[in-house]
Amino acid sequence: MIDTVIIGGGVSGLTVAYELMHKGRDVVLLERQVAVGGNAVSERIGGFLMEHGPSSLNATVESANHLSTRLGLDDEQVFLGKSVKYRYLTKGGRLSEISTHPLGFFTSSYLSPRGRLAIAAELLKPAGRDDGDESVDAFCRRRFGAEFAERVIDPLTGGLFAAHSSELCAEATFPALVNMERQYRSVVAGAIKRRMTGRKMPARRLYSWQNGIGTLPMALSAALNDRIRTGVAVNRIEARPNGFYVDGGSAGTLEARSVVLATQPHVAGTLLETIKKDAAAAALDIPAPPIAVVFMGFRRNQVAHPLQGLGYLTASGEDRPVSGALFASSMFAGRAPPGHVAISAYVGGSRAPDLALQPAKVLVDIVTKEFRDILGTRGEPQLVRVRQWPRGLPQTSLGHQSRMAALADAEDTVPGLFLTGNYFSGPGVAACVTRAIEAAGRIDGYLDSNAAAPFTAAGQLGGLPHRTSSGSSRNFV
Ligand SMILES: Cc1cc2nc3c(=O)[nH]c(=O)nc-3n(C[C@H](O)[C@H](O)[C@H](O)COP(=O)(O)OP(=O)(O)OC[C@H]3O[C@@H](n4cnc5c(N)ncnc54)[C@H](O)[C@@H]3O)c2cc1C
Repeated sequence: MIDTVIIGGGVSGLTVAYELMHKGRDVVLLERQVAVGGNAVSERIGGFLMEHGPSSLNATVESANHLSTRLGLDDEQVFLGKSVKYRYLTKGGRLSEISTHPLGFFTSSYLSPRGRLAIAAELLKPAGRDDGDESVDAFCRRRFGAEFAERVIDPLTGGLFAAHSSELCAEATFPALVNMERQYRSVVAGAIKRRMTGRKMPARRLYSWQNGIGTLPMALSAALNDRIRTGVAVNRIEARPNGFYVDGGSAGTLEARSVVLATQPHVAGTLLETIKKDAAAAALDIPAPPIAVVFMGFRRNQVAHPLQGLGYLTASGEDRPVSGALFASSMFAGRAPPGHVAISAYVGGSRAPDLALQPAKVLVDIVTKEFRDILGTRGEPQLVRVRQWPRGLPQTSLGHQSRMAALADAEDTVPGLFLTGNYFSGPGVAACVTRAIEAAGRIDGYLDSNAAAPFTAAGQLGGLPHRTSSGSSRNFV
């Protein structure tokens, strides 16, 4: 019997499998698609590099940095380019540039003097109510005023989470800010205290690799080698006294002492239905609205804007079809051939879910017009690619904490069941790595304390025998 079957070959599942392999565990990872990586897909096309999903990692997360080192990927790392001096926000159909310095919003005229004063006044406000399910919008409005909530936080949540700030749970989405209010009464006071005591707020340094974020799943996959089976969609799992049956349909069935669901939440919800109904309902209740990425490559002289930043975000009040864009070739070297630039637009999320699923041509027309208006692009792009994700980023929407509690309860009460993925950790790739490593530690402990025992029920293991490198036979292709 296998120690652990991991279902889902995105960054989360691959990291769990890699960690367990290094702990000497016998693992098999099953991935529905023909290639692993999940959202983390990079594609090089004629000197351009398109990121279909994530385009950067948070460099302040030690576990992800350490994983890069262990995989031998540090020499390939690329950090934010020198030209990244600003972030931009749309205001009245034009871009306002804001320094990436923490005080950028104070020094920019993007916010009115009244809006800036409201931010400063946060220092004097008493701590507010604490019912644990306040929205991001309500929290920021209460602490920093309406203008900051509408013109800064709303575009930020649109860009980071493809969500409306009024739908997201503050505690689940920005736990550090909520905790600062609890601990120091004021977020600004908390930030100042942390700076004075040397515990700086992390400056969001970002990095990637020369060939994009897809480098990480590719390296994990190479290390895991024949422990991975692609093209296998698990459609049912069954908990038995000493382990699990994992059913991959026509591909066959596996027996394992423990199982890890590392899929998107709607898949985890479906698979949990045979095991723990309330946890299944909780996972199925997590929204993940569709999102489309429209990548365009231009000659530099086709774009009037200097592109000296990460990209731009739009507030929902601006009523624009594109929620934001990244200036990929300004962020990292090697994203466009010499004399060219690469820009990715993001369309959809909870602001405009239907738009994300429009035919590719419609999306290209929308983005072409948007870039003409906002960035002053001229002529046809040299390269256009569209990637649509029918299920985009899982959202930490109101009620998220109770959904997480139901899922944690499933892990506590079903021996050998483990869950990981971006709906636990927050959407960042680095956060997924952290959660996956932590999950691998728990699984290892579980396997240690529950010695292998034969299955009590004689299940029908009707799959095809699998060839492994060690020559043993398993019921899986
Ligand atoms: C457009 C976009 C932009 C993003 N930008 C960033 C960014 O800049 N920086 C950042 O840090 N993060 C970003 N993210 C978020 C980040 O990419 C994801 O949160 C992260 O990659 C999720 O990894 P995961 O392994 O948890 O899930 P996934 O990548 O969703 O992997 C789940 C895997 O499970 C597989 N699976 C599903 N069902 C089954 C089944 N029945 N049997 C077997 N396998 C199954 C799927 O095929 C998939 O491979 C972005 C995401 C998107 C969509």
